[in-house]
Amino acid sequence: MFSRILILRFPKSEARNPIVCHLTKDFDLIFNILNATILPRKEGVMVLELSGTRKDFRDGVKFLRDQGIDVENASQEIKRVKKKCTHCGACTAVCPTSALFIKRPEMSVEFEQKKCSICELCVPACPTRAMEIRPSNQTFFE
Ligand code: SF4
Ligand code: SF4
Repeated sequence: MFSRILILRFPKSEARNPIVCHLTKDFDLIFNILNATILPRKEGVMVLELSGTRKDFRDGVKFLRDQGIDVENASQEIKRVKKKCTHCGACTAVCPTSALFIKRPEMSVEFEQKKCSICELCVPACPTRAMEIRPSNQTFFE
C-alpha cells in the first residue's frame, strides 16, 4: 500500500465541491482528511492522507490536477521559533484552524502543530518572523 500526505489547494469555484469523493469511487483510493479550511478569499485548503496502489495514486493525483486543484506533497511544515516569539498575538488573528491560539489566563500564544493546515497565513503576519516554513523530507513517489 502506497500512502502520502498531500496538500490540496482548491480554486474558489471548486472549494465546496466534493471532488475528493471521486478518489474512492473512481480510483479505489482511501483518503483520510486531516484538515480542511476555506480561506478568507474563499479558496479551499485540504490536507489529506491518500492511500492505494501506486498506479491508482498517480491516476488519482492526475484527476485532481485536471480539475484545477493544486496538489503538493506535504513536504513542508510550519514551525515556530520560540525564542523569536514575543506573544504579540498577531498570528492568532489570521490562523483559520486555531492552531495558533491565546492561552488564558497566561495570555501566552501557543502553537498546536497537528491542527495546522500549512496555509502559511501566519508567516507574513508575524512581525518577528517567528513562523517559518521548513521542508519535512517527504517525496511524492518514492
Ligand atoms: S505573530 Fe509571531 S511574535 Fe506574535 S505571537 Fe505569533 S508567532 Fe509570536
Ligand atoms: S500555517 Fe499558520 S495560519 Fe495556517 S493553519 Fe498553520 S499555524 Fe495557522
